[in-house]
Amino acid sequence: MARTSVRLSLDPNKCDRCGRCVRVCEPGSLKVGPSYIYVDWRACNECFKCVEACGRGAITRRESSRQKSGIVAATGAGKPKARSREKQPGKSASATPRNKVKVTAIHGPWTLLEAGLLLAIVLVAFLAKDVALGSDTFKAMTPSSAVMARVMVLAAFYAAQIGALWGLVRRRGLTLAEAFSLGRMRTSLGSKAVSIGLVVALLVGTRAAMWTYGVFVQALGWNPPVSANADLTSLFGPDTFGLMLAVLIVVLIGPIIEEIVFRGVLLDAFENRVGVWVALLAQATLFALYHFTPWMLVPTFVLGLATGWIAHARDSLWPAIALHALYNAVPVGIAFWLAAQG
Ligand code: SF4
Ligand code: SF4
Repeated sequence: MARTSVRLSLDPNKCDRCGRCVRVCEPGSLKVGPSYIYVDWRACNECFKCVEACGRGAITRRESSRQKSGIVAATGAGKPKARSREKQPGKSASATPRNKVKVTAIHGPWTLLEAGLLLAIVLVAFLAKDVALGSDTFKAMTPSSAVMARVMVLAAFYAAQIGALWGLVRRRGLTLAEAFSLGRMRTSLGSKAVSIGLVVALLVGTRAAMWTYGVFVQALGWNPPVSANADLTSLFGPDTFGLMLAVLIVVLIGPIIEEIVFRGVLLDAFENRVGVWVALLAQATLFALYHFTPWMLVPTFVLGLATGWIAHARDSLWPAIALHALYNAVPVGIAFWLAAQG
């Protein structure tokens, strides 16, 4: 049975990462990182110096049920109250006193086990998608049937990843938006302008790197398909409907899901273990390998580094999603513009 004691209420949304709480925490049981506040309850001596140090209300005292595992707790604002009204198995709702709050939402960093499990599911889904798209059944289809079948396979591919992400965040009592801070950006206008400027600069940089790399490898005689333009119009069809499908899948859905998987989960899990720079390199390498096209390894690695860095630097997935989406929008725009020119 859970014991009741005064505990900490953690609200990462109010935290500005000043680090004062971490400096006064003598047992070292407190960590603050991108979008999370982490307390190791086993080490915490309940001195509440962090509460005194935090002038932003991100750490406050709260009467709470003692956690059985005592490992992680950081909650979004309002979450504990909402949970406290839930009926517990085997208990009537009135059995929980109104002044006791059960903290059930976990907002800490992703573990390597969670990241590995997610990556395994993503890779299996990727291989299944490639097997389906390369099958004889596909080759025997008419172009219009193949486009629709391809869209269905891609929908199943992304649905598997969304399902895996949803399973992970539900285990923590969170929604996808809460787990990855995908709600409304609560930053100042100036901060948003900095993010936009960085996205534009990195878009130019990553596209320039891609172009330079293409010229370089062609000069070496590797003769890679420098342009994916033809592929995109043959994959989705060269008409307006094809353009809409390409925008939906290549510019919107793909970047959002890939950013959540690679920057939201993998980068977060690695960063918590090995530090930010090794984590950036590791997730960018996996991101490049995941795309499974040998000649694209370098440009995809560069894109993974850029999106990882901006997600870390701006402490939000939104700039990374915007950069990734715009990066993909360039070949989509060129491909369909060329198709329209005939
Ligand atoms: S209550 Fe004290 S020991 Fe616990 S996290 Fe805060 S500063 Fe650290
Ligand atoms: S003192 Fe408060 S605002 Fe500063 S890092 Fe700690 S929780 Fe965040």
